Amino acid sequence: MANSIINKLKLNGNPISREGNPKNTIHHVVVKNPLRDDAFDQADALKIELISTKFEEIIKILGLDITDDSIKNTPNRVAKMYVNEIFKGLNPKNKPKVTVFENTYNYQSPLIELNIPFTSFCEHHFVPIHGIANIAYIPKDHIIGLSKIHRIVDYYSRRPQVQERLTIQILQELSTIIQSNDVGVVLNASHNCISCRGVEDLGSSTLTSAFTGKLESDNNVMSILLGSNGKQ
Ligand SMILES: [Zn+2]
Repeated sequence: MANSIINKLKLNGNPISREGNPKNTIHHVVVKNPLRDDAFDQADALKIELISTKFEEIIKILGLDITDDSIKNTPNRVAKMYVNEIFKGLNPKNKPKVTVFENTYNYQSPLIELNIPFTSFCEHHFVPIHGIANIAYIPKDHIIGLSKIHRIVDYYSRRPQVQERLTIQILQELSTIIQSNDVGVVLNASHNCISCRGVEDLGSSTLTSAFTGKLESDNNVMSILLGSNGKQ
């Protein structure tokens, strides 16, 4: 099953390269973030302590007075936010438990979940990516609780990311859980690294999409997810 999903996986029509090994493409692998093998050897409490120390240095280097009442707890605040909140999706222990239900009513049409809000973080600049996810799947033997689709989006968002990878990871996870490769994922997001630095283009957005199985050729569902037929 996993192979048939991955074999048909495309990102806007093109296979994408696997990080660190350009000869292997998405056709052969589950797309992962570039984590080291020892990524979770340190306990969260130690990570918070270490990040706090480093962030205090950054604040000092910028010339800010770390003893100022407003700033003195910022290093610890940032460290806790990194580990416990905005990057918690890096750690597999925080993966949501998702159970599926038997498709006893034999529902075989696309189920479409629109406007799932997410906040991720650009791994190139560590600033937010705000967006919405539109997701569709055609059930086979199993259906998934709607809120679980939101939790999957949230889990993979809470990492330093690129939007292309996030799109594929959500699609692969959903395909694995529901054991169906009839899945479509569209993300429409604005990147703070575009709006608040560099070209400073406020108001632009980035659309990524991945469709597999029957949804690869379902123009109606595609147009709904892409927003040309539905509310964005
Ligand atoms: Zn960026």
